[in-house]
Amino acid sequence: MFNIREDFNCCKTVSCRNFGINKSDDYIYKSKRLGYLAVECKACGSHPPWVNNQIIENILKEKLAFHFSRKISHCTHCYQYFFFNEKNEAQLHGFTAAGTQRLKCKNCQRVYSVGKHKNIDAIKQVLQTVIDKLDTSAAIKKTGLSARLYYFYLDKLSLLLTNFSRLKEQEILQRDYIALQTEGKVLHLDHKRGFYTLFTAEADSGYILLQTSNVTQQKLTKQDTYHSTENTVIKDGCSSNVENEINQRYQQTMQRKHFEKLLVGELKPINRCNLINPARLSYVHFSMLRAFIYKTERYRHYIELESSIRAAALMSAYPEIKTEKAEIYYYLPFADSKETLINKKAGWWGDRWSSFESGAYSAITKKLQSNPPFDLRDTEYLNRYFTYLEGSLNKGLNSMNTLANFSEIHRVLFNFCETNKGKSPAMQFALAEKPYTAQELLEEAIRFNQYVPKKD
Ligand SMILES: [Zn+2]
Ligand SMILES: [Zn+2]
Repeated sequence: MFNIREDFNCCKTVSCRNFGINKSDDYIYKSKRLGYLAVECKACGSHPPWVNNQIIENILKEKLAFHFSRKISHCTHCYQYFFFNEKNEAQLHGFTAAGTQRLKCKNCQRVYSVGKHKNIDAIKQVLQTVIDKLDTSAAIKKTGLSARLYYFYLDKLSLLLTNFSRLKEQEILQRDYIALQTEGKVLHLDHKRGFYTLFTAEADSGYILLQTSNVTQQKLTKQDTYHSTENTVIKDGCSSNVENEINQRYQQTMQRKHFEKLLVGELKPINRCNLINPARLSYVHFSMLRAFIYKTERYRHYIELESSIRAAALMSAYPEIKTEKAEIYYYLPFADSKETLINKKAGWWGDRWSSFESGAYSAITKKLQSNPPFDLRDTEYLNRYFTYLEGSLNKGLNSMNTLANFSEIHRVLFNFCETNKGKSPAMQFALAEKPYTAQELLEEAIRFNQYVPKKD
């Protein structure tokens, strides 16, 4: 249906002749030479850690179902996923016995029905409890709904807002060029629970396109389960200059058992869930990002200086790196750097770093005839969203669905309602003309999702 990589066991050294190639004769599969399971590439000497492809596929399915296929309008048969399939036109086709409008898809000719959004007042009340940051029991009491109905309308609210945002995004993501920006964060909940999460924004506007968490209901092997208490994440800006900071991060990576062993401190999973290793989430997250780039002519990805993110970014962009349509950059924000780096070599891969006004960057992929030249306008976009989410998310959450629903509601509210210098990310991204209040946004989403075909 759409091209997402299925086999991640290959060489990940960009300059190696085996880069991205599966089943090369140069490989020793499941090599244990360095003390962990790896693919040994005899051509470049690298040992990328072994990836359990099946687990990636299972989690990808789980996350795709939540992030891209929860549609409430349009054809259920041929328009399965946002972005990956084309939106269909339809014509009126009578009513069901229960009085629901039926529609006939002009694309696949099949008949489907779309329900009306009932009890909008209850949805509005639930939204108000989200804005007021009430904990769940207070929220249920305030709305006067039963717990079951509260969760039912919370789900409706999340559906309305995500459908609104995805349909809007889909209209605009037909550009020939897009730049994305990705960082990983840790979000702590009550009782030492928490999760690792990856955020991706459109890099020119700061509009948050995708957030995934390492919470899953899939069965995991011991190797893929996150259960560390150790924290090896370097705090920002401890060094006196940017070059030291870069070197320190590479050194820290070298001290890991392997490059993708990212440890983020103690995190307990929420009820009836598992936590996958952050590096495994990266593969899932970047596979899903193909939704936003597979139609563009060229794209660029700015990622934080983190090996596990690097590997996933390279794998996801492999077809376009090969045809020189994609570029991947590391970036490292650094305030008031007193020195200027020009093509300075650092780290195991010999990455070359240069300064820009708010830090330093390094081209991970081959240097192309860069057009536009490296241009990361704001390194704080994802931090701003993280601060917002940390301040808004209900820390008592203890179910995967509720957590996912809350996260999506906040993603959309942040994009359309939160402003920086008078503009919301959605305005910067040309998806909206004004900042919305949350209630205005909900009304707009309800109108937008009520698909009425043109009479012909
Ligand atoms: Zn190699
Ligand atoms: Zn159809």
